[in-house]
Amino acid sequence: MMSANTGATILENKDESPKMPDKKKTKFDIVIIGAGPSGYTAGIYSSRAGYDTLILSGILPGGQLVNTTEVENYPGFEKGIMGPDLMIEMRKQTQRMGTTIIDDEVVDVDFRHKPFKVLTASEEYEGRAVIIATGANPRKLGLAGEQTFAGKGVSYCATCDGPFFRNQELIVVGGGDSAIEEATFLTKFATTVHLVHRRESLRASKIMQDRAEKNNKIKFHWNSAVIDIKGDQKMQQAVLKNIKTGEEKTLNVGGLFVAIGHEPNTKLFKNQIDLDNEGYIILKNKTHTNIEGVFAAGDVHDRNYRQAITAAGFGCMAAIDVDKYLTDSSEK
Ligand code: NAP
Repeated sequence: MMSANTGATILENKDESPKMPDKKKTKFDIVIIGAGPSGYTAGIYSSRAGYDTLILSGILPGGQLVNTTEVENYPGFEKGIMGPDLMIEMRKQTQRMGTTIIDDEVVDVDFRHKPFKVLTASEEYEGRAVIIATGANPRKLGLAGEQTFAGKGVSYCATCDGPFFRNQELIVVGGGDSAIEEATFLTKFATTVHLVHRRESLRASKIMQDRAEKNNKIKFHWNSAVIDIKGDQKMQQAVLKNIKTGEEKTLNVGGLFVAIGHEPNTKLFKNQIDLDNEGYIILKNKTHTNIEGVFAAGDVHDRNYRQAITAAGFGCMAAIDVDKYLTDSSEK
């Protein structure tokens, strides 16, 4: 799936909703926060199981796939599908199952008492259970060219986009496990992978470093930063600067993979849900958070897989766990 700024598509298609939400209704069995693959899948399973379910989607529904072009690795689409189109299909399927979807941003939550409260700027919603599916966003380098060439060479996911870059020279930026894993994966397709890291040693685990160092397709550029991305219709060059010496050089490359970490969208939950030191939700058991009745699904807790299909799988798991929780709890 190629990253691109195609978010408008999903908003343009919102009017196709088969069911308009009842604006006065604020009490639900299950409130799902977030409308990426995990949120929609949780909605499908929850509504199908007979629960009155609300998804609060945020202002730009669809999650990270709204910023992609072609998705080749989501099963069920022989010829692939555009990311925004996949998310429109998921949304329509979720609505057909009976889930209410409101495109509003959650500004606060109160998980201290049951029923749980989920607040937008204008409304207070209640849920007997909550599924947090707010996802994560890849960190950006902050270069102008990053936006210009998003989906035209610049990517944030090697697993998704690597096969589009056969027989090309590529850059991976970063020095952690993700960068090394992505660089190693990309050597399946690329002629050379330039690993650009801002320091002279890697943060990645020793075993992954050793593997990368032995791979003669990976070339290391230490103490270096990408300072410019150039091209015409697609990116063609990246300008590197040695941070210590100030020396600049230009590499002719077809793609640039940014692998400098992700930021889970968990600010809202900071003082109520247990988070690890990078802000990811800590799961106590399967999809359960530290608060009984509050569950989490997808990239908001998963730093390892980060795929649409795994996020959807976690959404399914959370909905099944919620069903068990509501069935077992005396409230039902
Ligand atoms: P990470 O460990 O936080 O590493 C991020 C890397 O990007 C660091 O090398 C950092 O440089 C660099 N960086 C950060 N901001 C930058 C910027 N603005 N410009 C240039 N470089 C920048 O993130 P990650 O690699 O995504 O890994 C996240 C977590 O997932 C880690 O705990 C990792 O172990 C785990 N993970 C595990 C596996 C695996 O076991 N197979 C695979 C992937 C990820 P500095 O080193 O200078 O800080």
